[in-house]
Amino acid sequence: MENKQELERMIRSMITEIMKGDGPTVNVSSAVTGESQAVEGEPGVFKTVGAAVEAAKKAQHIFEECTLATRGKAITAIRTAMRPMVETLAKMTYEETGMGRVADKIIKLNLTLDKTPGVEDLVTECETGDNGMTLYELSPYGVIGAITPSTNPSETLICNAIGMLAAGNAIFFSVHPGAKKLSRWLVSRLNEIVRDAIGIENLIVTIEEPSIEAAQEMMVHPDISLLVVTGGPGVVHQALCSGKKVIGAGAGNPPAFVDETAQIKKAAQDIVLGASFDNNILCIAEKSVVAMRSIVDELVQHMIDAGSVLITDERQINKLLEITLQANGSPSRKFVGRNAKVILEAAGIPCEGDPRLIIMRTDKNHPFATTEMLMPILPIVTVDSFEEGLATCLFLENGLHHTAVMHSLNMERLNRMARAMKTSIFVKNGPSFAGLGYNGEGTTTFTIATPTGEATTTARHFARRRRCCLTTGFQIR
Ligand code: NAD
Repeated sequence: MENKQELERMIRSMITEIMKGDGPTVNVSSAVTGESQAVEGEPGVFKTVGAAVEAAKKAQHIFEECTLATRGKAITAIRTAMRPMVETLAKMTYEETGMGRVADKIIKLNLTLDKTPGVEDLVTECETGDNGMTLYELSPYGVIGAITPSTNPSETLICNAIGMLAAGNAIFFSVHPGAKKLSRWLVSRLNEIVRDAIGIENLIVTIEEPSIEAAQEMMVHPDISLLVVTGGPGVVHQALCSGKKVIGAGAGNPPAFVDETAQIKKAAQDIVLGASFDNNILCIAEKSVVAMRSIVDELVQHMIDAGSVLITDERQINKLLEITLQANGSPSRKFVGRNAKVILEAAGIPCEGDPRLIIMRTDKNHPFATTEMLMPILPIVTVDSFEEGLATCLFLENGLHHTAVMHSLNMERLNRMARAMKTSIFVKNGPSFAGLGYNGEGTTTFTIATPTGEATTTARHFARRRRCCLTTGFQIR
């Protein structure tokens, strides 16, 4: 140990000497890499971006030589070992971020462990003919730089880890500073689980002190082959400026349209379930309701019965707006993901019990309808026709290509809206989370790549598609 420290001291002093001269600029922190920069007792956590990426690169070189069965073993170990930790992780996430509800986080984490696909997602394509055979296979990128949000920090981290390892990559996680404690803990645990299962350390790494600057350093690091960004529009834009391949999962503003043919009570219940789930911090959660005039009163009554508080006093709506929306037009962090009761009380609105959702009737231009609030606040906009409803939903979704919901029993309208919205997820007659595979068919993901178009990402998106051509046979038709 002493020898190692002495060696490190010597390297540092050599670099300092070099930097005094006219030689090339050397980044001291990332030049002194390897184990000396590892945080003791926290496998996978490093002091610098350079050291973390270097360790991940070495690990990936070993990993890419392993069999698919070995990748599968690592993923099975994650699913099994994380299961008993779900409740602890849900509580840690709530305690650190202050957002959402523990019971809903437990559901999200179990969903992640159950339904994030592994190596089976890497489907091979093959063409054969008189000239032989050509294979298309999905192979690793190398080290992926994955940026995770404050809103679903643990789910995104586990979901990305499973998909990216399945595709044969190592991962550098750049996590939100507001969720750094739980993310560090989680990276370390995942690292230990994978190491114990397949004997490779540092396939999943992060740094001790995440920051915007460190995330930007990672984005331009030459050994990061792919950026996978889950966050708001700012960070997706920043990543797209890096010159690297980016899978960008950005903001959404999903509307839920209810027409007069819908099963109104079920629609109301589904909307309350979806919009109040984890206090609306999911990007796919209903952020507004667009309802036909003929059924809106009935819908609102059923939404109240399903656990919502209706605010009708204009002054109270204005007060809610005043406390939750900042002057720059973005939602106040203080109230993102908070319980409805906390928001109501802060606005001086008396509240009994623990309502799931705050609802109010507004027009389509109201900031609660046009802003991604990420709070259990749901505006309801009234329209007079299907055409007006569809146009309103398109206006509210604002070309983000994220998520939309429709409640209707009219097949033609369901079809027309699904086509016209052009969203990555479209849910018919269910809560928005059905589109993530919770009480809905299909796999799950917490990285829905909207601006870059991969949509509901799985292992296959974290892989490079390569063509391998054999000219001498293997055509047996
Ligand atoms: P955020 O954009 O504030 O932060 C996301 C991540 O980006 C964090 O790790 C943060 O540290 C980093 N970051 C932010 N600005 C950066 C910059 N300029 N340079 C480098 N890194 C930067 O988002 P948030 O508040 O944590 O999460 C909520 C947002 O994320 C919402 O808009 C939500 O819709 C979106 N989101 C989208 C998806 C999806 O799958 N499409 C999933 C979850 C969240």
